[in-house]
Amino acid sequence: MKNICLLGSTGSIGTNALKIIKNNPDRYRIIALGGGRNIDLLLNQIKEFKPLFAVVINSRLANELKSKLNNDTNIEILYGAKGYSEIASLSDVNLAIAAMTGSAGLLPTFSAITAGKDVALANKETLVMAGSLLINESKKSGVNIFPIDSEHSAIYQSIQGHSREDLKKIILTGSGGPFKDSPIEKLSTATPKEALKHPKWKMGRKISIDSATMMNKGLEAIEAKWLFNVEMDQIEILLHPQSIIHSMVEYMDGSIIAQLAPTDMRIPISYALSYPRHLKVDLPSLDLLDIKTLSFERPDKKRFRCLSLALAAGKIGESMPAVLNAANEIGVKAFLEGKIGFLEIPQVIEKTLEKHKTFPLNSIEQAIEVDQWAKSRATEILREMGRK
Ligand code: MG
Repeated sequence: MKNICLLGSTGSIGTNALKIIKNNPDRYRIIALGGGRNIDLLLNQIKEFKPLFAVVINSRLANELKSKLNNDTNIEILYGAKGYSEIASLSDVNLAIAAMTGSAGLLPTFSAITAGKDVALANKETLVMAGSLLINESKKSGVNIFPIDSEHSAIYQSIQGHSREDLKKIILTGSGGPFKDSPIEKLSTATPKEALKHPKWKMGRKISIDSATMMNKGLEAIEAKWLFNVEMDQIEILLHPQSIIHSMVEYMDGSIIAQLAPTDMRIPISYALSYPRHLKVDLPSLDLLDIKTLSFERPDKKRFRCLSLALAAGKIGESMPAVLNAANEIGVKAFLEGKIGFLEIPQVIEKTLEKHKTFPLNSIEQAIEVDQWAKSRATEILREMGRK
């Protein structure tokens, strides 16, 4: 029986994780739920999974949740950054699922690792911001980081039973998102609604925009560098519009091992929870006869400017990826709020990166400082562009 703390329970990964947990009550027990602003959904989850702890963003929401619970469950309600970190490191917890969005996931994920908890990681931003710190800490406390990101789950599955020193490169695949083939001149007027329409995956808003700009693939390359201890140059990115192969690993002798699966996040989530076992997930088998063709293309660097910026920041390393990540969060938010155009997202990021002198990160506090510095620079840049 694994005792689980689920950080980000009301998001897309969180709700899918709960479906798996619900179907495997003899394997998993929810000890704590960290929700966001969706109090009604969190309330239903509390009633169903009966955790001992729940966390929300602030005291107002905590009070709202308490009054809605009407004292009819034996649960402790916490709030704020401290609350998320507290539930991630509870002594009863064996595994923390890190499924919060963006930089908010960094502290609780780090707390879980420091406290010796295995982590099922969906929050790629934490590795982008502070990969070296998280990986070093995980080695020190002897914990596993099981990737939930579908590409990294594919790589994780493809390295089982192989020798690490035989690995030549990682081939990271991506669908190319909704704008892969749109005329470039149309991208400047692309709306959030169009950008949110991912052809293959149903996901949260931030990651859907990141997929449209392909920043997501850039963040994933940095994530892979840390998870699998490779150089950025050992990571090749290929567009694979069918999204059947979720990534591959090439070995020294030229053998390539790939993982193929339907595009459903329950597959990588369940593997992260049940490694090295494969749980029964009720999904129809892939129909390869129906799919027929698997095709590959190189991403267009002009079209996907965010991808180039991410790969460059990943190569520089140190504090630069944290700046990239923070500026991207500000850019994506401004785009979703209709303040900037789609092609202005990379502009905001590039201008922020130009203002930063990279340095090695020695602590999580430093990573958070860099994050905040970059967010205020990016906000200033928006203002200079005449967008508030
Ligand atoms: Mg992914």
